[in-house]
Amino acid sequence: MPTAEFDLIERFFAGKKSLNAVTELGIGDDCALLNVPAGCRLAVTADTMVENVHFLAGADPCDLGYKLLAVNLSDLASMGAEPIAVTLALTLPDVDESWLERFAEGFFELAAHYRIDLVGGDTTSGPLTLTVQAMGVVPEGQALRRSGARPGDGIYMTGKLGDAGLGLKIAQGDFCNTQRHDSLERFNRPKPRVEEGLALRNIAGSCIDVSDGLAQDLGHILKQSSVGACLDWESLPFSGAVKAYIETTGDWTMPLRAGDDYELCFTVPADKAASLTGSYTRIGVIEDSPGLRIHRLGTTELLRVQGFEHFSH
Ligand code: ADP
Ligand code: MG
Repeated sequence: MPTAEFDLIERFFAGKKSLNAVTELGIGDDCALLNVPAGCRLAVTADTMVENVHFLAGADPCDLGYKLLAVNLSDLASMGAEPIAVTLALTLPDVDESWLERFAEGFFELAAHYRIDLVGGDTTSGPLTLTVQAMGVVPEGQALRRSGARPGDGIYMTGKLGDAGLGLKIAQGDFCNTQRHDSLERFNRPKPRVEEGLALRNIAGSCIDVSDGLAQDLGHILKQSSVGACLDWESLPFSGAVKAYIETTGDWTMPLRAGDDYELCFTVPADKAASLTGSYTRIGVIEDSPGLRIHRLGTTELLRVQGFEHFSH
């Protein structure tokens, strides 16, 4: 007999031991109840992944469960929020038990790592669509917003740029190289920079996570802060695989356009730069003059590249 809605929730998602002290009531009632610590703001975000838009048909469900949670935790990280709880809305074409088992495995692997409770959700039938809503806490006044960049601030990022974009090209069969596995891993299982986001509280003036391409996402900081910026090509952190891709194809804007890296891009005022510990790369500087420029091969040019946007084609 096929698994019905409530059996499915019971079997794959409910009944887990609570890992986070804020959860007063989890799955099973009309709402969950969270006990948000005094003096904190609740940071709330949601991200959806749709088959054939955000992932290829036939993608490994274990990776999908992991990535769906990771992209939401990345949004919390970019605000300097500590993740506490998530809800999960699943729209499934049918009940495929082995798919659900693998999906839950990837999802709960990452949830357990950060001691996050799944506290509720919704389950419906329809075209495969996966949504997580994530909640985190951040002390009042310490959230990292997009609007806090000022001229003279350094622009920094965590990790490396362009590997997920390269991973997508490899997954689609558009490019092949010897470090195939690393790039695919970065595309399939992005690391949310949760600890880095927490460490940037009271240091970064602004922060965003790179989900739709560095040029576009940094553009959001520039717009909301009413400033411009200049990136330094030589300082951009590329892996060996991305360097090889650029050398082979000449396509140097790929790492600036491609999404899915889920690294943090943030700005730090000069007087706070000494407080920055950990491995970050300084990639440019915030300027008065609007627009995004790049200093490359001895000249400075306007960077006109588009990231990913829905409804734009
Ligand atoms: P309601 O009809 O009140 O919205 P449901 O009957 O849809 O509630 O769900 C029953 C319980 O299971 C609720 O606590 C809901 O939050 C939870 N739930 C439903 N789907 C999921 C899911 N995919 N993951 C986690 N919890 C879920
Ligand atoms: Mg209800």
